[in-house]
Amino acid sequence: MNKGKKLYEGKAKIIYSTNDKHLVIQHFKDDATAFNNLKKSKIEGKGVLNNRISEYIFSSLEQCGIKTHLVKRLNMREQLIKRAEIIPIEFIVRNIASGSLTKRLGIPDGTALEKPLLEYCLKNDELQDPIISKEHIYNFEWASKREIETIDTMSLRINDILIGLFRGIGIKLVDFKIEYGKAWDKNKNEHEIVLADEISPDTCRLWDLKTEKKLDKDRFRKDLGNIIEGYQEVARRLGIMPEITNVKEVNFNKSSSIKFKKK
Ligand code: C5P
Repeated sequence: MNKGKKLYEGKAKIIYSTNDKHLVIQHFKDDATAFNNLKKSKIEGKGVLNNRISEYIFSSLEQCGIKTHLVKRLNMREQLIKRAEIIPIEFIVRNIASGSLTKRLGIPDGTALEKPLLEYCLKNDELQDPIISKEHIYNFEWASKREIETIDTMSLRINDILIGLFRGIGIKLVDFKIEYGKAWDKNKNEHEIVLADEISPDTCRLWDLKTEKKLDKDRFRKDLGNIIEGYQEVARRLGIMPEITNVKEVNFNKSSSIKFKKK
């Protein structure tokens, strides 16, 4: 598989073309951003960890019958994926109130939700990814009713699978963001909805089951320090990355500050 030109560069990933028009390469960078790009940093090794964690999660979901864009991992930072037209919506699934939900509605952080809550945000950095309703989605034709019905069913199933997967390694799945795309299905000769992008500590809130320590990007957002150690802990518990010999013990007491980008 030949790596071609850069097609798109996002905040944490780059997409390259290949010699197959239905396949592209997804490259995981070390860049971290938060608060719509206001806070930026490079976290050495993050891309490698997210590549492995996301590959593991997508493969586990495929085994449970969820269609995803993943073809295979190519190397430490790259995956071969199906080329997909990304639906311009961030799909958020919440099990426990945290983050923007607590800020927006004043719900106390850590409140267990009676049933999973699905939210939709428009993928638009300039507008700061505003929350939208299904009516907005249908009205502006960002996705069809049929597509959203398929996606809602898939998102709830993904949530069920991931809650179990993480609970098995002593982690609470608080919430996560997923994206979907339309990829060409060779067998059916038509486009189908596939899970796209990534699922990693960058896109989930993951709390230790007993201590509720954060093992995700909130360590970066909230300046808690030991970001990479949190991600390594997730990878270690999932039983991946055995080649890492320098996995340090997680010490959550130490905190290091991260500079805000000057405007
Ligand atoms: O910030 P908020 O509480 O809405 O985030 C909900 C979940 O979606 C979190 O797990 C967060 O990491 C993820 N998210 C993301 N990318 C965004 C917004 C949220 O991965 N642009």
